[in-house]
Amino acid sequence: MPALPDIKSQTREELATRFAEWKQPAYRVPQLLEWLYLHRATDWDAMTNLPKALRQKLREHFTLQTLELLRKQGARDVTQKFLWRLADHSLIESVLIPANPALYGEASDRHTLCVSTQVGCAYGCKFCASGLDGWKRNLLPHEIVEQVVAVERWHDAVEREKRRKGEEENSPDPLFPSAPASTSPQQASERLINNLVIMGMGEPLANYENLLKALRLLNAPWGGGIGARKITISTSGLAPQIRRLADEPEQFRLAVSLHGATDEVRSRIMPVNRKFPLRELSAALEDYQSRKERMITFEYILIAGVNDSLEQTRPLAALARRLKAKVNLIPYNQVQGLPWERPADEICEAFLAALEKQKVIATLRREKGHEIDAACGQLRLKTERELSEGK
Ligand code: SAH
Ligand code: SF4
Repeated sequence: MPALPDIKSQTREELATRFAEWKQPAYRVPQLLEWLYLHRATDWDAMTNLPKALRQKLREHFTLQTLELLRKQGARDVTQKFLWRLADHSLIESVLIPANPALYGEASDRHTLCVSTQVGCAYGCKFCASGLDGWKRNLLPHEIVEQVVAVERWHDAVEREKRRKGEEENSPDPLFPSAPASTSPQQASERLINNLVIMGMGEPLANYENLLKALRLLNAPWGGGIGARKITISTSGLAPQIRRLADEPEQFRLAVSLHGATDEVRSRIMPVNRKFPLRELSAALEDYQSRKERMITFEYILIAGVNDSLEQTRPLAALARRLKAKVNLIPYNQVQGLPWERPADEICEAFLAALEKQKVIATLRREKGHEIDAACGQLRLKTERELSEGK
């Protein structure tokens, strides 16, 4: 790991303190922030309105890391998965979900990005690809922030290329190819992502400090500019950290990966349930719910023969009603090498109907073609294995 902190791990206040020490005028801070979050600069030398000496000083004290795109799956207008390589060559994934009546946002959402918070995961849920090879390390704040910035940077480049091609085709006069418009900073600063879900690789609440710092950078109007209510943190149920989150001033949304409504079923697939069984988890959620007055979402993957019996709907409905939670049912995405399967469509529909009958707000993900949407961690796992076999 590099010894220097990264510039995208710094808050505006931290930068202001540093610039004051360096006897720099205060207006240099917003100038720098614009280069980082609006123009998404990848190089200190691009920051042409900062004096050369200041750029040199920044270079000596901070890194300016960007994520290297190693692989991308999926086409335009469908879910696209990005596999990134970090500075230490670790691999992480982000998933870009196009405008749709998103499960975690509203119909008007433009794009949702799902980001990772750790390399691997220590929680070892039996159905999940992210935990298969264990936990490697926590992501630093800038590595979480940069997933958003890097996707927006990638999108800018795609749009620029599209405009360039369109202009070439539409330009009747090859002497006026109108290229400069495509590189104006105004266009480069359009924001693509306005909804964020922390549902990629890793357990976000096990990387609490770095997560919170990253989310504050992404939430700040001078940073990522994503509203707190448009940020959903998903957890496998770390009760103490849920209570801690309830103390934070921001109104982040909370999703809980439940996947079982009795300790017997849940412990079978989620080892974390032995540490924080349902009674403890639900008490923490009750605390969160009462202090935040925000609706909690329960994620419930339907796995054939494991948690899809209609008997589970009773304790699930009781819990959801008690916590005023909404339930998202998600048919399991098959993971290579794991024995679990998704139930037949009729079983998923019957499970949904049973919850609705018990007065629970529930949705069922019905879209087809989720091969690449298959939960985070799979592309990394596949690539890691290919790379190690290639050695
Ligand atoms: N660690 C956190 C966030 C990352 S996992 C958590 O567990 O909540 C994000 C979501 O993907 C979780 O609800 C997880 O249970 C789900 N998931 C993992 N593997 C899956 C699979 N193969 N099919 C469908 N959902 C899956
Ligand atoms: Fe980790 Fe979440 Fe996967 Fe469980 S579901 S192994 S907590 S990433």
